[in-house]
Amino acid sequence: MADCLFCKVIDGSIPAKIVTQNDKLVAFRDINPQAPTHILIIPKEHIESVKDLKPEQAPIMADIALMAKEIAKQEGLEDFRCVFNIGASAGQSVFHLHMHLLGGRPFSWPPG
Ligand code: AMP
Ligand code: ZN
Repeated sequence: MADCLFCKVIDGSIPAKIVTQNDKLVAFRDINPQAPTHILIIPKEHIESVKDLKPEQAPIMADIALMAKEIAKQEGLEDFRCVFNIGASAGQSVFHLHMHLLGGRPFSWPPG
């Protein structure tokens, strides 16, 4: 998608601190971290949000969860929080599906 910020991270036209990647996913550090570890995991395929996920794309959600588990281990995180903001009023500002992986401090509930 020409106008998508995260597609530009994937194609390298916007620089990012890449943590890891494979044929389906890229993980990179959030530019405005909300915790000592704040990493975004995104599919290389442009999907706007979880709302737009088609049944045949659903396995990507499991891939994201497995990558989060591996990154958390690498980052030394025993506990961590994973968040999908879905839609503008839920806090989504970039409309390319992404999961926030946050850790390194305590988190409260409910979220703001
Ligand atoms: P959301 O608000 O859930 O859509 O999350 C988008 C996230 O992308 C925010 O936490 C931003 O700080 C982050 N972000 C925006 N631009 C960049 C960028 N160029 N590199 C890394 N993270 C970014
Ligand atoms: Zn995109």
